[in-house]
Amino acid sequence: MNTQQQSIYDMVVIGGGINGVGIACDAAGRGLSVLLCEKDDLASHTSSASSKLIHGGLRYLEHKEFRLVREALAEREVLLKKAPHIIRPMRFIMPHEPHLRPAWLIRTGLFFYDYLGKREQLAGSNGIEFDLENSPLAPRFTRGFEYSDCAVDDARLVVLNAIQAREHGAQILTRTECLNAYSKGGIWQVCLKNAKGLQNVQAKVLVNAAGPWVADFIKQGLKQESPYGIRLIQGSHIIVPKLFDGDKAFIMQNDDHRIVFAIPYLEQYTLIGTTDREYNADPNRVKISQEEIDYLLDVSNDHFKTQLTQTDIITTYSGVRPLCDDESDNPAAVTRDYTLALTDVEGAALLSIFGGKLTTYRKLAEAALDQLKTVFHHRSKPWNADATLPGAENLESVEQLMMEIQQKVRGVSSSLASRWAHAYGTRVWILLNHLTSIDELGQNFGHGLYAQEVDYLVEQEWARSSEDILQRRTKLYLQFSAAEVDVLDEYLMAIRIKQKAQDVA
Ligand SMILES: Cc1cc2nc3c(=O)[nH]c(=O)nc-3n(C[C@H](O)[C@H](O)[C@H](O)COP(=O)(O)OP(=O)(O)OC[C@H]3O[C@@H](n4cnc5c(N)ncnc54)[C@H](O)[C@@H]3O)c2cc1C
Repeated sequence: MNTQQQSIYDMVVIGGGINGVGIACDAAGRGLSVLLCEKDDLASHTSSASSKLIHGGLRYLEHKEFRLVREALAEREVLLKKAPHIIRPMRFIMPHEPHLRPAWLIRTGLFFYDYLGKREQLAGSNGIEFDLENSPLAPRFTRGFEYSDCAVDDARLVVLNAIQAREHGAQILTRTECLNAYSKGGIWQVCLKNAKGLQNVQAKVLVNAAGPWVADFIKQGLKQESPYGIRLIQGSHIIVPKLFDGDKAFIMQNDDHRIVFAIPYLEQYTLIGTTDREYNADPNRVKISQEEIDYLLDVSNDHFKTQLTQTDIITTYSGVRPLCDDESDNPAAVTRDYTLALTDVEGAALLSIFGGKLTTYRKLAEAALDQLKTVFHHRSKPWNADATLPGAENLESVEQLMMEIQQKVRGVSSSLASRWAHAYGTRVWILLNHLTSIDELGQNFGHGLYAQEVDYLVEQEWARSSEDILQRRTKLYLQFSAAEVDVLDEYLMAIRIKQKAQDVA
């Protein structure tokens, strides 16, 4: 279906985070005409500020979120099959702290964790003893537990869903804000704004997946009352040089009964997070506080032999969880489950999304489409549990793909082959467009980034700025110097000038 010629879209989705692209992808795959608008870059807010885990959420068992945990546990296996290039199994080590949680309680939790959701690929849990000399942990830890979850490239999960939505006919407009919308004769009149100016589109259904802005948009953009309250809960991470060897993560129990992860990140680093604190300011400007930095350093120093100070921190990031307000006193206890609100605004359907996890985005999208059956009267069935995401087509294994890349493209290092295989999967062949040598990839921006990849990201993945490319599409931002970023910016500027000239001609 050519959506550009569509006079009334079936659905306009506001928000290019994981929930917006997940719904757009599912809907487009069912044959609905879809337009998605994102005011910034895809995944530029909460969906790239996560702990980067596809997990059941062991700690949610304590808050009796059994529905959520069961669904999330099962989704680990589904998503692993859908996108094995960007999602990988990870073992988690929990050092035992008998004064915080007795061993029988942890064992019971892990038993549920092992059996509550279907588990085929991921190994079950077990107890472990630490070899005190070689353990990176403080000597007081002599034993603990180990279990499985998965790590994900969060921003790429969003981009891959957006690509799949586009391939099913959806129109994806980034850097396009939805200013407002109103219902006329049961059809949404939606006002969009981007660098080219204002554009009005019409839709049968409006999906508000604006994440931290969901309630504000209902109030200001639609002049309606929000059906649910929203709790904005900030979470922050610090990135430090690798704290321990190996590919296992640690889950640390803190005295306040919260847990903090230390996760191997991009070969050379450890990601430590997260925090939970009430947030009432502008979600665009969320930033780690000194209190959060001290908290994360304290938890890490309490657990590991290597002692960190603030000067060890390479960088930090923060995000705002858009949670459905369940009036919980404790920010860590507010439900992580999602709530969908389907309302009728003068004859037009509005579906608003509150809460959710990266892990459950696909189920959330299915639930959204299920609710919308009353509007579209469609009989389509859920389709995407078995559909691979872009790059996972014909992917035997990431290791095999890495070898093929090195065999077919002269001069490619194993680290570059690994980065490409993990980021693009088998779509790397589209990126490479039959080139057979690294010398043919154009300008070298450093750290394995060549013009060929930049052009692909601009043409195929909506990348516009160096931040889009370095932080979200390639994760090379930790290696690039300011001067190297400037060179990339100049190149991108030249592309934009060329595009503008072509638009005018
Ligand atoms: C610290 C932290 C750690 C987390 N860790 C995990 C984890 O490990 N695993 C997991 O499963 N989940 C995790 N989560 C939860 C997960 O990240 C979020 O649930 C999810 O990213 C929310 O996605 P979203 O699409 O609702 O919001 P967002 O990603 O914020 O997307 C909403 C988008 O809407 C856009 N928008 C807003 N208003 C407009 C408008 N008017 N017009 C156009 N666009 C608009 C915004 O620019 C934004 O990009 C974590 C969250 C946080 C904060």
